[in-house]
Amino acid sequence: MIPFVRDIKFEYGRCDQVSPLIRRVVANNPGPFTFTGTGTYIVGKGEGVAVIDPGPDMTDHLQAILDATAHERISHIFITHHHIDHSPLARPLAAATGAVIYGCAVKTLHDKGEVGDAEVKLEAGNDRFVPDVSVCKGSVVYGHGWTMEAIPTPGHTSNHICYALREENALFSGDHIMGWSTTVVTPPDGNMADYLASLELIKARGFATLWPTHGPPITEVIPFIDAYVEHRRDRERQILEQLEAGETHIKSMVPKIYAAVDPRLYPAAAHSVLAHVIELVRSGRVSTDGPPTVDSEFHLVEPTA
Ligand SMILES: [Zn+2]
Repeated sequence: MIPFVRDIKFEYGRCDQVSPLIRRVVANNPGPFTFTGTGTYIVGKGEGVAVIDPGPDMTDHLQAILDATAHERISHIFITHHHIDHSPLARPLAAATGAVIYGCAVKTLHDKGEVGDAEVKLEAGNDRFVPDVSVCKGSVVYGHGWTMEAIPTPGHTSNHICYALREENALFSGDHIMGWSTTVVTPPDGNMADYLASLELIKARGFATLWPTHGPPITEVIPFIDAYVEHRRDRERQILEQLEAGETHIKSMVPKIYAAVDPRLYPAAAHSVLAHVIELVRSGRVSTDGPPTVDSEFHLVEPTA
């Protein structure tokens, strides 16, 4: 079982000091993907503060961030990924403050004709997201009393970046690791093998605290990540069991595997199952005709004697 943490004390628009260097303002955009809303973090004090994931394009949230930093200067904006609950307010905030935007632009999946409409329907992206400074390959940024390391963590999306705050051995984990829920991995931009590798990468770093964009911090980091990985292995076992029982389609597996989950999340769950099945097809344990999709027919590959 994943030791979820869901107890978050906040009020929409109020700025709370949550650690010596970190403040948080929560946007009023609760939902099935965002829990209580987007938690925008403000790091440092005074002449050069950083903002992580300014969030959705909502004027009251922009105002709340500006009010929270009224006699300070926002110098840096860090974006974990392009989804609409994370990145759209970056440009308006930069325009209001002169801050520089760091992040990794979306791969041009549409241009390559690789993208289904999955991502658009499920967790809408902001495909126009382009940072001022690209940190797709990682980078260390020195600020006013803080040091931020951009760590590429593909999986949830191909352009997901976590940001480590060195002074507190803390990590802004975006949607890569969340205390309230597992993350959605939606192919083709999301990739399960990348996701699991990114979990191991973060585990190996030994962070004291993870600050997800949604929900409260995770302080029991190693046991939490171990449980997260184990959960994915369980999912894979459940999918193999369904195939063994004669199920051939993802949409008929989902209500059985996700019986305890809000049915509004079934389309997203179907894409997480697809992410697993893609790996099973790649490793030769499952077969299908053509490229795997949520509507494909799948069969277990019988081991040859
Ligand atoms: Zn999110």
